[in-house]
Amino acid sequence: MTTLAWGALTDTGRIRDVNQDGVFSAEDVFVVADGMGGHRGGEVASAIVVEEMAKITAVSSTDELIEMVQQANLEVLERAREDPSLYGMGTTMVALVAMTEADTERLCVVNVGDSRLYVRTDEEMLQLTDDHSLVEGMVRDGWISPEEAMVHPQRNVVTRALGVEDELLVDAWELQPVTGDRYLLCSDGLTNELSDAEILEILDETDDPVEAASSLVQAACAAGGRDNVTVVVVDVVDAESTESEPPADRVIATRKAVHDDVDVEDSTEAADAATADEGTSDESESLELDSLSWRSFLDWRSFETWPLKWFAAVALVVLVLLLVLLAVL
Ligand code: MN
Repeated sequence: MTTLAWGALTDTGRIRDVNQDGVFSAEDVFVVADGMGGHRGGEVASAIVVEEMAKITAVSSTDELIEMVQQANLEVLERAREDPSLYGMGTTMVALVAMTEADTERLCVVNVGDSRLYVRTDEEMLQLTDDHSLVEGMVRDGWISPEEAMVHPQRNVVTRALGVEDELLVDAWELQPVTGDRYLLCSDGLTNELSDAEILEILDETDDPVEAASSLVQAACAAGGRDNVTVVVVDVVDAESTESEPPADRVIATRKAVHDDVDVEDSTEAADAATADEGTSDESESLELDSLSWRSFLDWRSFETWPLKWFAAVALVVLVLLLVLLAVL
């Protein structure tokens, strides 16, 4: 079995009153969940997911792991239906699980939302997970640069989370464990405060994963600590050596769900349907989940960064003026 050493730490940060992040670390299971939704919702959602994932005893395939995440999703939905005060709660989740699949040692990763997994190999540091967030979609489609995404007012808006719909898309990876590699699981409270370069520098300062986790959390708090910060550093102490050269990014297989469709009309319909269903919903609390509602569509800040919307708006005005002119003549 692959031997791992780890350090895990979560902190409320400097601004928030409560910590809605959840974390779990054991010999071969590591989970970070970033809950959202006002009242106690966020804390409850992340706690449910952490509890569900902690039940892992003998998972032997990536499929089983994905099923566990989907089960946790149903659990969050179920609890929200039972307790109206929890309505609208959701959570992200990233997990790293060491397992033996068909006599081969593997590290399996599952991800939903904008918590992240990085790998630090002897060569480089890479972000393996994609963020399921509005700004990630905007970067992918070329509307804004990665630098602009870091300071974008809507950078907290996720497009995928547990607790939103019965059906859940889960991204999954199978990685080859390599002795000396260091993995980092974290919530966006870390990555919104520190750049990848800053994270890498801190990771390289010490061989002790506990110390590394603690330094990262301290640095995020010193940089502002505007959100809850959660960090798990996992070191591969001893991995079975294989004859074949491991891939540079350690990825043996990927099972990524189709990219979220950042299509404004479709998402709006879904958001409207969800709101109509419940009658009333707290606008400020559902904002993170109803990522592409009309509210955010009409938000001037999104206009600023969405040239197509500007173009559409101007074209519409010109068209109306032309029609008025025609009618007058
Ligand atoms: Mn967060």
